[in-house]
Amino acid sequence: MSVQCKICPRGCELSEGEAGNCRARKNVNGKVTLTTYGFPCAVHVDPVEKKPMFHFLPGSKSFSIATAGCNLHCRNCQNWEISQAKPEDVPAYELPPDKVVEKALEYKCRSIAYTYTDPVIFYEYAMDSSIKAREKGLKNILVTAGYINQKPLKEICKFTDGANIDLKAFSDKFYRDVCKATLKPVLDALVTSKECGVEVEVTNLVLPTLNDSESDFKSLVKWVKENMGAETPLHFSRFYPNYLMKNLPPTPGETLLKAREIAKSEGLKHVYIGNISSPDGENTFCPSCGKLLIKRTGYSIDTNEIKNGACPQCFSKIYGVWQ
Ligand code: SF4
Repeated sequence: MSVQCKICPRGCELSEGEAGNCRARKNVNGKVTLTTYGFPCAVHVDPVEKKPMFHFLPGSKSFSIATAGCNLHCRNCQNWEISQAKPEDVPAYELPPDKVVEKALEYKCRSIAYTYTDPVIFYEYAMDSSIKAREKGLKNILVTAGYINQKPLKEICKFTDGANIDLKAFSDKFYRDVCKATLKPVLDALVTSKECGVEVEVTNLVLPTLNDSESDFKSLVKWVKENMGAETPLHFSRFYPNYLMKNLPPTPGETLLKAREIAKSEGLKHVYIGNISSPDGENTFCPSCGKLLIKRTGYSIDTNEIKNGACPQCFSKIYGVWQ
């Protein structure tokens, strides 16, 4: 009997024994089954800043897991060895949800991050781990491309505290050409996650010649401001040649500075540039009085002045999860 997977907009129709486009989900006895449930291929303890999450328990550790497979096929993928592989070809650990939580606590993490590939495709594993994590006082973070249907998204948002969602470009053509996906479901996921009370940060990886023009940045930034709010943290990230895009050069530093300038002039309050060292590119300032609140070097926190979620100088509330 064939069956349809309703997790992501691809809506794969699977005949008995067939795997979906993401490779992680399969029709087993007429039921869509996550074959990687409890078997992550990547397990690390990361600084939460690496996600990147800059407004979420700064300086804390996040227990980070992924399973093989992905529902996107980005030509520039940094994790293509696991995201574009068949799960059966990738070594994995045995780590059911209760063990994930146990390990996270053992390593003194404050959160669990579902990351590296995309939690959309290991949905049930991320969901069950999130529920168990909450029971033990841990928070949950989704690091995702946001290519997910609304119903499962709303369900998992009930157990999600933070999310870094890629907005790869404000262009459907880019999504089709570079990621084999479409833009609209991602925009809907960004808005819905925020509406559900998740602390959402947005990442835009800047690819030379493909999404790096002034008008590319302007349209993306305007959409974020109008639909998610000016307080939404936006990370412009530097691209390094990888996978099927070794022909492109790394993103020039000036392009990232330009992107940040445009975002700030359009009114976004927290704009960062990452994967490159730059003066103030990773620091958090009070949008009201300009005080330096969090000074970062790479993934480490040098100083954090935020007190009770507010600026200690002008007492303005700063968007984020601070305790
Ligand atoms: S999650 Fe995987 S199997 Fe399900 S619809 Fe998306 S690509 Fe297909």
